[in-house]
Amino acid sequence: MKKIPVGISSCLIGEEVRWDGGHKHAGEVVDALGKIFRWVPVCPEVAVGMGVPREPVGLYGSADQPLMLGNESQTDWTVRMRNYALRRVKELETENLCGFIFKSKSPSCGVQNVPVYKAHGSRHSQPGRGLFADAFLKRHPLIPVADEDELRDLKVREEFIARVRQASAGDGV
Ligand code: SF4
Repeated sequence: MKKIPVGISSCLIGEEVRWDGGHKHAGEVVDALGKIFRWVPVCPEVAVGMGVPREPVGLYGSADQPLMLGNESQTDWTVRMRNYALRRVKELETENLCGFIFKSKSPSCGVQNVPVYKAHGSRHSQPGRGLFADAFLKRHPLIPVADEDELRDLKVREEFIARVRQASAGDGV
């Protein structure tokens, strides 16, 4: 059976692209789903030239329009990341993605509950969304998305598979 194309944050399939040179292989999720999905990996932070290893970034300011800044240096990556995200989510249309699995809590990839700090050094945060995930969801609001944490729940995983299959059949997108 032909596998269904689904986008995924690269670190979840074991690519060593994280800020510390490691990965976040989510074996229990991606090994099961990899039998029916064909992965289209994306690492926005490597793609914008942050390098591996790199200074970790975070979101700062307002939850609606956060800035992406280096956690120590406060280097501003916001424009570079937003421009990349707009371009890449458009390019991904050629892949006919039927779903996307994002890394949870990432300032680039997180779809929900990513901390947005008021200012550097602040311990207070609001829940926000990673800049790449935000661009993807705005351009493709009907494509099913989830993060790996949600998909550890078998019921949620089955529902996600059903939504992706529906999108693949042309019913949902
Ligand atoms: S969470 Fe996203 S940006 Fe961070 S390492 Fe994984 S794929 Fe790259």
